[in-house]
Amino acid sequence: MLYIVPTPIGNLQDITLRALETLKSADAVLCEDTRRTQILLSHFGISKPTYRYNENDARSVARCLETLKSGENCALVSDCGTPCISDPGWKLVKEAVAAGIKVSSLPGPSAVACALAGAGITGGAFTFLGFLPRKAGKAARLVAAAYELKNPVVLYESPYRVVKMLELVAQTLGENTPVILARELSKIYEEWLRGTAAGLAAELGKKSKVQGEFVMIIDRPGEPEQGEENAPDSHFQNI
Ligand code: SAM
Repeated sequence: MLYIVPTPIGNLQDITLRALETLKSADAVLCEDTRRTQILLSHFGISKPTYRYNENDARSVARCLETLKSGENCALVSDCGTPCISDPGWKLVKEAVAAGIKVSSLPGPSAVACALAGAGITGGAFTFLGFLPRKAGKAARLVAAAYELKNPVVLYESPYRVVKMLELVAQTLGENTPVILARELSKIYEEWLRGTAAGLAAELGKKSKVQGEFVMIIDRPGEPEQGEENAPDSHFQNI
């Protein structure tokens, strides 16, 4: 049996009881980075064999599949959040399903859901693009096509590229495109930056170093609701 086990995205207290039970009872833990996973396991007093799972290495996928086929119960984890969501895992899940191995996906932390819930902009549809391609032209085309669907667009971005990505959004969709940045979710320095693509790019661009993990939500312009504090010309609001 293959269990997909989400792990915290910043706050160790966010691990679920079921995730802990599953990790404790698994025969082996398949992980992105064995060192990082060992730190997590030892924090919770769990001692398990860990095997590296490298999605880009067919032999690694095959080895993990063999372990499952031998009848072992394996827990698949990634470095943070839910495996397979902008993280390795989907190939193993696909192969496991094809081989008739039972797969169980545990609910748990994921930055996309956490950011979207706190954004307060939709209770329904959104378009999740994960990490955009490195090439600016490709990234711009993808963002433009996703935005056409008329839903908020959600991206993952590294601190090194977040300003560039805001500039790309400003150039592609317009300077005043509303953007929400959810930074360091569930960590001590969690913050929410709300403004326009150009305004946030200018504000963050002033910093000597941008730090932390970001989820970027590209919203749609619209009338602010009554009592909403986000003034249209407020580029940068840290609440
Ligand atoms: N599988 C993970 C999930 O379910 O969210 C995502 C892993 S992906 C490799 C890492 C990206 O997720 C980061 O670059 C960032 O965009 C986002 N992320 C992860 N943790 C975050 C956090 N605490 N706050 C904001 N964004 C975070």
